[in-house]
Amino acid sequence: MRQAVVLGASVAGSLAARVLAGSFDRVLIVERDDVAGVAPRRGVPQARHLHGLMERGRQIMEELYPGLTGDLAAEGAPTTEVLRGSRWYLSGLRVFPTATGLTTLLASGPMLENAIRTHTLALPGVELRTHCAAVGLTGGDEITGVRLSGGEVLHADLVVDATGRGSRAPDWLAALGHERPAEDRVDVDLGYASRTYQRKPEHLDGHLAVVVSTTPGFRGGGAITLEGDRWHVTLAGMLGDHPPVEPAEFERFAATLPVPDVHEIVRDAEPLDDPVPHRFRGSLRRRYERLRRPPHGLLVLGDALCSFNPLYAQGMTVAAQQALVLRDCLPDPDPARFYRAAAEVVDVAWGMSTGSDLRYPGVEGPRSVRGRVVGAYAARAQVAAHRDPVVARTFMRTANLTLPPTALLAPDIVLRVLRAGRR
Ligand SMILES: Cc1cc2nc3c(=O)[nH]c(=O)nc-3n(C[C@H](O)[C@H](O)[C@H](O)COP(=O)(O)OP(=O)(O)OC[C@H]3O[C@@H](n4cnc5c(N)ncnc54)[C@H](O)[C@@H]3O)c2cc1C
Repeated sequence: MRQAVVLGASVAGSLAARVLAGSFDRVLIVERDDVAGVAPRRGVPQARHLHGLMERGRQIMEELYPGLTGDLAAEGAPTTEVLRGSRWYLSGLRVFPTATGLTTLLASGPMLENAIRTHTLALPGVELRTHCAAVGLTGGDEITGVRLSGGEVLHADLVVDATGRGSRAPDWLAALGHERPAEDRVDVDLGYASRTYQRKPEHLDGHLAVVVSTTPGFRGGGAITLEGDRWHVTLAGMLGDHPPVEPAEFERFAATLPVPDVHEIVRDAEPLDDPVPHRFRGSLRRRYERLRRPPHGLLVLGDALCSFNPLYAQGMTVAAQQALVLRDCLPDPDPARFYRAAAEVVDVAWGMSTGSDLRYPGVEGPRSVRGRVVGAYAARAQVAAHRDPVVARTFMRTANLTLPPTALLAPDIVLRVLRAGRR
């Protein structure tokens, strides 16, 4: 019997188990937490904060779980056309409200995670063990299993590490005599604070979401309509300028955003809980594709492979893209091939988000001349997206990862950006 063991039952783990299901007799998901229901839990503290799903991620999830968007909509998660049903502000300027062909699915992080896990567990051969932490790997040149906290060893023909940013796989590999992956970091010292409110239909003139970009010098955040007619409000600040959680100070911080939309909700709506904080030090990428001999029997994906600045809302979508990469490598995944293809997927999102962050002198990370030129052009494209619907549409499609970033370099778009992109 061929068995795959997937570590972590969050978004990346469930997606990985979904694609492994056809190729292994048994797929066992091992999870440290109790994952019943949609309540926030210890292992995924970020789920208390705004989670937007990019269109490419939604498309892949829809392919892997046909009908998912409709099921979530039936449970109360609204969907809307991205620039028509919601408001986007970049550096304080509203992105032109035009049709983009992009759908925003407004489900909370826990609701989406729970839905894909439930669908995955319904597949034949997929099982879940909760309250169970992985503490190491077994094997030598090849990985042959997982050690659990109680001392038990699970045999596995394939181990998939989807334990998130805090993944211990580099230590576990080193303990078996393997090389550790190199790490790339871009430090942004981002702070989030989030709170939910009762929504009234007249808020935001009926728009379902507002997103205000956050950069050094511009505080930001957003408000998204959630299942249960609630607002999920997140405030954000970079380079140590973190939003406070004391309710009156939270409201004062909201008033300092470059546009009033989020503050109007915070000021007028009835709060349903207290603000909760989250600190994110920086984007972190583990370069498994550069290992000279990545061991057979182990694959690392999701945030364990690359954790992105959450302001760009890329993590769940890139995890979904990596699940498709994994599917292409089955039934006997070669790790070098998997990491090479996964790196191509990560490169796109990493280049967009870190390229944008590195425009600011206070952000720490490796800079290049090319990065500076691209960054200056992207800043101009953001201004042009405020005035020109064609640029707005293209910009949103690249941000949603349905078009490559090079789409913004098509000659007609460059002309429009140069024309409409002056401040
Ligand atoms: C503040 C914040 C906001 C974000 N906003 C967005 C957004 O708007 N859009 C977006 O697409 N992405 C966003 N992300 C990223 C997104 O949360 C992740 O990319 C996504 O959840 C995929 O993560 P994952 O499944 O790889 O890991 P995680 O979600 O971190 O899950 C890891 C799982 O592994 C379990 N686990 C950990 N260690 C062990 C162990 N030793 N043994 C067994 N189980 C273990 C944990 O309990 C958990 O269930 C955000 C991240 C942060 C920090």
